[in-house]
Amino acid sequence: DAKHNGRNGFRFFTQNIAETLRQRQLIEKGLRLALSEHHFFLVYMPIFDCKDNTIAAVEVLLRCESPELQGIGPDQFIPVAEASGLIKDIDLWVINNALQALLILQTEHKFKGKFCINISGVELHNEAFPAKVKHLLSYYNIAPESVELEVTETAFVAGDVTCVETLKALNKLGISLALDDFGTGFTAFSQLIHYPADCLKIDRSFVNDLFSEREARNKMVMVIQNLAKLYGLRVIAEGVENEAQLAYLKENGCDWAQGYYLSRPLSWEDLLVLLNS
Ligand code: C2E
Ligand code: MG
Ligand code: MG
Ligand code: MG
Repeated sequence: DAKHNGRNGFRFFTQNIAETLRQRQLIEKGLRLALSEHHFFLVYMPIFDCKDNTIAAVEVLLRCESPELQGIGPDQFIPVAEASGLIKDIDLWVINNALQALLILQTEHKFKGKFCINISGVELHNEAFPAKVKHLLSYYNIAPESVELEVTETAFVAGDVTCVETLKALNKLGISLALDDFGTGFTAFSQLIHYPADCLKIDRSFVNDLFSEREARNKMVMVIQNLAKLYGLRVIAEGVENEAQLAYLKENGCDWAQGYYLSRPLSWEDLLVLLNS
């Protein structure tokens, strides 16, 4: 009966909460271990120029090989890192290692493209962050124009002064800024004019829905491309998984594209093979 089901439902519910908490603690433990025992590593996803199919940029993506994080990707562990405060150390680890890698690509492999590094939205409230980036750029002697920082659009709070100030400070360093997963957090549409952004990254869900009948989502790629044109921003399409999507994006003036159809995220060794081929 209903009462019986309800009680079972409640037990199921509390068991789920306990399980979620246990999972979170495990991930946090794995992240701490990763920082101290060097379990983090980077993979590299090429981004292609739609005009000539050359490699215009490389996005750096974080991976972790702690035993506690078996089969768990950044979509799951970054939110835990943000909630536990570990994210600041992790973002710095990523930037440090990405710039080291970029220096090798530039000096030994004639790489001329941009390096795209993801940072957490947490950094937009971290006043010390732009100075840290500046220090690392000069430490590795990297030209700021070769670096693009990606921030998820949902990290932006409409009218938030600190966010805009941090973005302006980063922009002053000469690096470029991309709004990642663009279209998933509608605040930026009206706020866009306040952000010193250089690039919009169309979220892969919209690329995925290009030819679907679902609501008006199949029009989103067009909307974002027009918006970018109005504001003079570069557009990167994420999550290109087939020829038809790529053809559509090319025809409609998309600047750069990335996705499994073009290349999976690569190990350092495989990236070198691709760049030298
Ligand atoms: P993102 O920055 O939007 O990165 C794109 C994600 O989509 C990557 O997942 C990539 O592997 C995946 N992807 C790219 N093309 C395709 C495709 O064609 N099909 C499908 N199904 N997936 C595709 P990943 O590496 O799991 O990263 C997930 C998210 O975690 C990233 O989304 C980013 O927000 C965050 N992240 C990754 N690395 C870092 C990092 O170093 N620092 C920070 N703060 N966040 C990171
Ligand atoms: Mg990204
Ligand atoms: Mg994205
Ligand atoms: Mg994402």
